[in-house]
Amino acid sequence: MKITDIQACVIGKQEPHSGGSVWTFVRVYTDEGIVGTGECNSGGPGYSGFATKSAILAMKPWLIGEDPFNVNLIYEKLRRVGRYGGSTNAPLIFALTGIDNALYDIMGKALGVPVYKLLGGKFRDTIRLYADCHAGEAEEPQAYADKALEVVAQGFGAVKFDVDNTGVGKLDPYNWTASAKEMTHVIALIEGIRGALGYEIDLAIDCHGQFDLPSAITLAKAVEPLRLLWLEEPVPAENLNALAQVRRSSSTVICTGENQYTRFEFLEMFAAKAVDVIMPDLAKAGGIAEGKRIADIADAHYIPIAPHNVSSPLGMMAACHVMASVPNFLLLEFHAMNIPWWNDLCEGDRPFVANGAMALSERPGIGVELNDSVAKSLLWGGDTYFD
Ligand SMILES: [Mg+2]
Repeated sequence: MKITDIQACVIGKQEPHSGGSVWTFVRVYTDEGIVGTGECNSGGPGYSGFATKSAILAMKPWLIGEDPFNVNLIYEKLRRVGRYGGSTNAPLIFALTGIDNALYDIMGKALGVPVYKLLGGKFRDTIRLYADCHAGEAEEPQAYADKALEVVAQGFGAVKFDVDNTGVGKLDPYNWTASAKEMTHVIALIEGIRGALGYEIDLAIDCHGQFDLPSAITLAKAVEPLRLLWLEEPVPAENLNALAQVRRSSSTVICTGENQYTRFEFLEMFAAKAVDVIMPDLAKAGGIAEGKRIADIADAHYIPIAPHNVSSPLGMMAACHVMASVPNFLLLEFHAMNIPWWNDLCEGDRPFVANGAMALSERPGIGVELNDSVAKSLLWGGDTYFD
């Protein structure tokens, strides 16, 4: 089998609190008529979706004529040839991720097996999810608590809330020190949610790297008794030693990784003893095989993996195949509570999410296809559909 063409397009529509509901899709065509579709993160709406698309199309000369079953060789070739141009960072690594996922889709379809079987089989049939929650405009503990209970009533056993940028008590937009009023408010929000949920529902808190070191340490220590599933990005992602200082300061579980790519950046994270849980975004971090490599290295450190996920059903199912194939899977994010057309965009075993979980597809390949007519109606920024 030989690759004959590669096309890409940007699809989605910005919805409130949806974390960037715009994605870049890749189609890889073969001389045997099998077409694979992969998804990668577009880095949010605006510019990087098209940057990713351009990167995918620029990789075409290195893909035409290759056997898609040589997926590891193709990944390594694309990574090495582009290293000086930044192939281990966004948007090139996003492009590599989408291409890799499309190649796995082709291999699964050619062999008539779901992708997880190409990764060594499955540890589980369903992928447990946590719901990313937004309480709306009311930045009050009661609103957060009400939202948490509403989502749990929909079947989720784990929830995550953002506590950064509430606007309460913020004294300076560029200084990341939480004022006394802001810190008091943030802690009250978390206590309010925990008070409503009790201790038998998992509760994660995301800071989006919006605090400096002293504020992050104060927060991590203050919420120790609230037994969080994790405190996410208490400081920005770039300085792992600072994150390690936060981790050492308390027993609060520390998680990071949505802005780190490939096994090498996670290796650095483990070497710095900076995390308790990792959350690579599997639509950004390097692809299906690279996602499994990251998970396996984490497992050797006894660290669980709970991927960040803001994907469409297609990209999310690709993540499910990876997470089914490793022992140390903890939870996968579900970020589409506020996207009414999320299920309609794709064909497959719908609804894709039920009772706080996503059932692993047993169809050949990734097992989820774009609904062409819905996808065409959601082309982003005047883009054309795979041509
Ligand atoms: Mg986050």
